[in-house]
Amino acid sequence: MHSAQQLWEIRREIPFYAPQGDECRLFQHAHASALPLLIKGPTGCGKTRLVEHMAARLGRPLITVSCHDDLSASDLVGRFLISGGNTQWSDGPLTRAVRQGAICYLDEVVEARRDTTVVLHPLADDRRMLAIERTGEQLQAAPGFMLVISYNPGYQNLLKSLKPSTRQRFVALCMDYPNAAIEQAIIEAEAQVPPALAAQLVELATALRRLTDHDLEETVSTRLLVVAARLVGSGLSLRQAVQAAIVDALTDDADTAAALSELVRAVC
Ligand code: ADP
Repeated sequence: MHSAQQLWEIRREIPFYAPQGDECRLFQHAHASALPLLIKGPTGCGKTRLVEHMAARLGRPLITVSCHDDLSASDLVGRFLISGGNTQWSDGPLTRAVRQGAICYLDEVVEARRDTTVVLHPLADDRRMLAIERTGEQLQAAPGFMLVISYNPGYQNLLKSLKPSTRQRFVALCMDYPNAAIEQAIIEAEAQVPPALAAQLVELATALRRLTDHDLEETVSTRLLVVAARLVGSGLSLRQAVQAAIVDALTDDADTAAALSELVRAVC
């Protein structure tokens, strides 16, 4: 039994996450069924926070890798390192997660080099195996291990999409920006700002999202709204905060920035 104080400590350690729907349950069931999860959604919509929240709730360590176009299989699995004249094997993040029974989160996985799929496939199906080619080791994933990958379908092009043979191994979860009430609650909680300010930022986001669907590669995310709210909370004017955290963060194009600023003036 936990004391009230201990329960409070435990709760405090779980990162705040406001659910958009039933995604926490889906995550929980995927984990309980030893199935890997694929989270799709635009940048800054809460994918990483969901994984952090669920890892803490499930009591599993979390190992996160931000994928980039130079990331290779050996960056994930590990490599021999030379130290003091000796070569020594050093586990990569994926191997550590497999040994520890951790949750391994590969953020923006489509960015990684193609050779990474070779190591991910046997881990993502019933085998739950990681073959370490260099050492000849065949690792069985420890209980509790879960592979979670995410990507932003908006960035997709033909060269950078998940192969059907990869995606079909994963349970898929679609996310988007939360609805207005939830987004307001997130801004209030994350930036510790009053409801009126959070509501104003959500109103602005609704207007910008309508407009920017056509004009921008990416629209305003929950993350940017939280950043703007934090700047206002620290004493910056709303206009200046929105200009710096949202408008100038979204575009380099002077005409588009002017159109966005005009919309901002209408709302704030
Ligand atoms: P993604 O991984 O989708 O790019 P993040 O999970 O990093 O986005 O979210 C960016 C920020 O937005 C978080 O740090 C948090 O402040 C806030 N956020 C977004 N969605 C939520 C949510 N549902 N609950 C709590 N915070 C959220």
